Amino acid sequence: MNVYKALTIAGSDSGGGAGIQADLKTFQELQVFGMSAITAVTAQNTLGVQGVYPLPVEAIEKQIESVGTDLGADAVKTGMLFSADIIQAVANKVKQFGWSRLVVDPVMIAKGGAPLLQEEAVQALKTYLLPLAMVVTPNIPEAEVLTGMTIHTLNDRREAAKRLHDLGVQYVVIKGGHDDDGEEAVDLLYDGDEFSYFTSKRIETKHTHGTGCTFAAAVTAELAKGRTVKEAVETAKAFIQAAIEEELGIGHGHGPTNHWA
Ligand code: PLP
Repeated sequence: MNVYKALTIAGSDSGGGAGIQADLKTFQELQVFGMSAITAVTAQNTLGVQGVYPLPVEAIEKQIESVGTDLGADAVKTGMLFSADIIQAVANKVKQFGWSRLVVDPVMIAKGGAPLLQEEAVQALKTYLLPLAMVVTPNIPEAEVLTGMTIHTLNDRREAAKRLHDLGVQYVVIKGGHDDDGEEAVDLLYDGDEFSYFTSKRIETKHTHGTGCTFAAAVTAELAKGRTVKEAVETAKAFIQAAIEEELGIGHGHGPTNHWA
């Protein structure tokens, strides 16, 4: 049996909708063996984030080493990294193990407004981690923070993608979910040469907790199987669309997406 393996380096969401939990559920649904290195524990549910507890850098390094020295990984994803120290440590480990299929989801703020990345850590993300990434998957607000640009139009988004590519990332995906215009959600992919567009119907719902994590995890799972980035983004887009469409309806706030869909 050919087993594909993916490692997520991210935060834990006790509510099971985002973070490590969303990543592992997504890997499982896409037939990839999931492994994890937890960077921070959050006390969280559909109503919001009640607490954030980062782990010591050493504990994060040890988890990555345990995976890297024994099981190995065909693709790796990073999510919530919280601090500059954690980012540097993760970047060093990624280099040490030579993981080239790296997806960086630049998680910054939870939908309810809780900060999941310290402000001073944004520069560390740009300096240490993005140059190692095969794919980066910001939403529009995250792309604005990373580039210092204000993004209104699709043209702005193309410019932002070029600036992110200049930081050393091979493929830039800027997701369109936060763009309020129109009936379609258009994700943009830039490979340093051409732009591709992935369009889906916009769904009006408040139950989108964990969509960013799930999308990036689906891209990672497909890369672990050896798919091209374009194929991986296409599959991830379909996966997240189904997960949003078939609402679970649990919790009292912004419910999680449906990984079974
Ligand atoms: N909590 C953790 C641990 C996450 O990694 C993420 C990822 O973006 C979130 C929360 C954000 O979730 P939401 O989709 O509600 O913004």
